[in-house]
Amino acid sequence: MSNAPVLDRKADFPGLVTAGGKPWHYLDTAASAQKPLEVIDAMSRALGSDYATVHRGVYNRSAQMTLGYEAARKRVADFIGAKSENEIVFVRGATEGINLVGQTWGAANIGAGDRIMLSTLEHHSNIVPWQMLAERVGAQIDVCPLTEDGLIDLDWLEANLTERHKLVALAHVSNVLGSVLGAKRAAKAAHAVGAKLLLDGCQAAPRMRLAMDKLDCDFYVFSGHKLYGPTGIGVLWAREELLDAMPPWHGGGAMIDKVSFEKTTYAPPPQRFEAGTPMITEAIALHAAIDYVDALGMERLFEHESDLATKARAALRDTNKVTLFGPEKSAGIVSFALDGVHPHDLGTILDEEDVAIRAGHHCAQPLMEHLGVSATARASFGLYNDESDIDALMRGIERTLRIFG
Ligand code: PMP
Repeated sequence: MSNAPVLDRKADFPGLVTAGGKPWHYLDTAASAQKPLEVIDAMSRALGSDYATVHRGVYNRSAQMTLGYEAARKRVADFIGAKSENEIVFVRGATEGINLVGQTWGAANIGAGDRIMLSTLEHHSNIVPWQMLAERVGAQIDVCPLTEDGLIDLDWLEANLTERHKLVALAHVSNVLGSVLGAKRAAKAAHAVGAKLLLDGCQAAPRMRLAMDKLDCDFYVFSGHKLYGPTGIGVLWAREELLDAMPPWHGGGAMIDKVSFEKTTYAPPPQRFEAGTPMITEAIALHAAIDYVDALGMERLFEHESDLATKARAALRDTNKVTLFGPEKSAGIVSFALDGVHPHDLGTILDEEDVAIRAGHHCAQPLMEHLGVSATARASFGLYNDESDIDALMRGIERTLRIFG
């Protein structure tokens, strides 16, 4: 018997039923999480009775919205253990956060002959922006391999980082394998050669208690929609002194101190990186999402989802028809291949059974190449999943095996 906490939250999520009113077994939370009513209500209020733009209004409603927007920033800062809300830049998502770091800090600090260290399991959004930067400035990309069970090989990383490396950019949790990075060790290795560490926290922020001071990284990014919040908002965290020294990115309103045709000066961070009218309602709904998960307890979420992943792995293994990828203890994400069945066919048959999994390369084509497959099937768990979802998955898999003989 496992001691994992039992979370019974399906009723909070209107998305978890089919159009016909039956349970929908949603196993694609790593792609995007369903939203609790609290978030939907917060978004609806912000778009409705509370709506006005921020920062420029002299009327009370706008002042209230500004307070709400800035309160969301403070909530994010507290949630991830940042020193100050000035370390929180609202972006459209993790992808935008990484591009922002590449085009500002990266362009200013990485030059010809410098090296950037990534890993085999990175999401395309933590590969392509660095390739674009490397091409622009004449830098080189290195790739840290994985251990046999799908963890980023920190022994290799420690042995192969050099003074030429200016940046190490790694996933805190893999979106394909669910493997969790030894982040502190990675930070120590990066800092030992004078490099900065960027962590892609897309899959970690919805599942783990984050403490920026303890992680000791330099940049951290995640997306709101994977944290039970809305699309269109994400977070870039960076230590204040790094943000202070970074040149602006997008130019426009709200990111300036003073504008004239002779010379424009820029606002301090985080406003320097938030040109234009921001994602006001999304920030307010993200605040509600953080309140929701925090009240449940991030440690409980991790244990709950990791326990479901372990149970799913055991059930899949019992079929004797499955290849499992990644470590035994994962952060709630299980990638697998069913003998003789393409993941897309499996996904289509499971859909008929009201089970939603992801089938494909999961925006991690270099990892697929490493695994020797073009695609995997992936079941990823959220706080609302329970054993009934694993049972439905296994019923669908048994049916698929019958169909394919
Ligand atoms: N990194 C990881 C590990 C992810 O799982 C994702 C989303 N699949 C991203 C980055 C990109 O996030 P977004 O598309 O929300 O910017």
